[in-house]
Amino acid sequence: MDIIEIINKKRMGKILSEKELEFVISGYLDGSIYDYQMSSLLMAIVLKGMTNKEIVNLTRLMLESGERLDLSGLGNAVDKHSTGGVGDKTTMIVGPMVAACGVNVAKMSGKGLGHTGGTIDKLESIPGFRVNISTEDFVRQVKEIGLAVVSQTNNLVPADKKIYALRDVTGTVESIPLIASSIMSKKIASGAKKLVIDVKIGTGALIKNIKDARKLSKLMIEIGKSNEMEVVCLLTNMDIPLGSNIGNALEVREAIDVLKNKKQGNLLDLCVELASYMVSLGLGIDYEDAKSKVIINLENGNAYRKFEEFVKWQKGDLKELPEAKNTYEVRASKDGYLNSIDALTLGKLSMHLGAGRMNLSDELDYGAGIVVLKNVGDYINKGDVLMRLHTSKELDMKDNYEEAFLIEKKKREDLVLIYEVIK
Ligand code: URA
Repeated sequence: MDIIEIINKKRMGKILSEKELEFVISGYLDGSIYDYQMSSLLMAIVLKGMTNKEIVNLTRLMLESGERLDLSGLGNAVDKHSTGGVGDKTTMIVGPMVAACGVNVAKMSGKGLGHTGGTIDKLESIPGFRVNISTEDFVRQVKEIGLAVVSQTNNLVPADKKIYALRDVTGTVESIPLIASSIMSKKIASGAKKLVIDVKIGTGALIKNIKDARKLSKLMIEIGKSNEMEVVCLLTNMDIPLGSNIGNALEVREAIDVLKNKKQGNLLDLCVELASYMVSLGLGIDYEDAKSKVIINLENGNAYRKFEEFVKWQKGDLKELPEAKNTYEVRASKDGYLNSIDALTLGKLSMHLGAGRMNLSDELDYGAGIVVLKNVGDYINKGDVLMRLHTSKELDMKDNYEEAFLIEKKKREDLVLIYEVIK
């Protein structure tokens, strides 16, 4: 078999056989296929797509490149995944909510890159918090308290690790077949048989429109089915940031406020929905019953106590969350209704303040980030503080940080939080 022939075949829009895909994955992992050949093939896939059969085969081959966790001893374990957004701290809230309802959550998460954050960075901003624990301790913790969140092991889908790093620097991330196989290979390898995926749509997300989100969701559900995994996808809005805090320790603080019933809004609403679908899958009960359980366990403080227990088990100390050295206020220069807050712009700004990394080796400033002080729909008076920037850098406040806020005379319709649910 010849890699050039395979690249040409895909370039012409033809279907790659299982054997050809196997040749590509094993050759790329053993180094006999070079980065430049792989990136050429990836670009051909971005442009010409793949059939569902090719995608299912690709996912299986990636999955077989590394270890698979066996969570069969954990009974009703349910996993969750988000395709990535700005201010997305849902795992820290949903995990305890679901575990407090008696459903096991054994979750592997990743670090953030670019303008979207990663759950592992958020948890690591808690002093002492351990994200690298052995598989035995991970499983034991879930058995004892129903919840553990750890960093993906090095051997979890090594083919995805190598291919994703290449996609990241060759403009080949935004491809539905490649995204579906990348996410699903990791989720299947992580061991749970039930999965809720938050498919984010909007300026701050990988997927920009509902049509693509539907396509991706249906594909992931089909890949799940061929691997005995039940998948539910929620298609949700990522035009505006989720909640008000962006940045690692700032997001931990906001997660605590939600779990302590001190904060309403789009973040709480989305977390209750995600948790309800997870509890419904885990306990095999209908969505409405699951939702009542979630709300009871949030309101009675069980979800927050579960969060504290989880942090303690992973050796974190919530008493002294890091804070950035400086804060700067950004004020409105005009009156009007706040009609939108651009998630992508704030995600990039937060990264530059020190909360995110351009390269995986960059150090983070855990206290850095943004606190948005107004909600979409609010009436703004000139001079009102729109957001507070937290950073250990010195900022030149002449920059136009206000541009992320769309302030207009006429109030626009309410934003949709959840577009649809696909099962
Ligand atoms: N998240 C992943 O894990 N993989 C992708 O390809 C895109 C988002």
